[in-house]
Amino acid sequence: MASDPTCIFCKIVAGEIPCFKLFEDAETLAFMDINPVHDGHALVIPKAHSPNVFEIAPEDFAAAARTATKVAKAVNAAVRPDGINLMQANGEGAGQSVGHFHLHIIPRRAEDMLLFNWDPKPGDPAHIGEVADRIRGFL
Ligand code: AMP
Ligand code: ZN
Repeated sequence: MASDPTCIFCKIVAGEIPCFKLFEDAETLAFMDINPVHDGHALVIPKAHSPNVFEIAPEDFAAAARTATKVAKAVNAAVRPDGINLMQANGEGAGQSVGHFHLHIIPRRAEDMLLFNWDPKPGDPAHIGEVADRIRGFL
């Protein structure tokens, strides 16, 4: 299984540094985030190292997603938030600080103001269509 000796999450997988483990199976690990936004903030990682969504094997992403559904339900039951966001960052520009693919499970409170700060306005349909064409060219 791919591992990076310099990666903090690989060290957690290897048991070299501690975590508040929630769940583990052959492919994934779920543990508490040590800088929680709210009580119950948890992370799910594939045990195999890959930096981001561009490089992860689809089956590792699928395994992490499967574990996230299980853990999100447990977080929801345990801390009774107003909602839960699943969040996942790729690259510094998206706020990624640890270079091992991870899903955040973020319990939300109604007034916590943890919102993406765009102001949704209808886009130009012609431009949206052009961008869609560009994306399809890479699929
Ligand atoms: P991101 O900024 O999306 O890459 O998220 C990385 C997350 O990992 C942050 O929320 C950190 O608080 C969290 N984190 C970093 N080191 C540890 C650690 N040793 N144990 C648990 N969570 C960690
Ligand atoms: Zn790693």
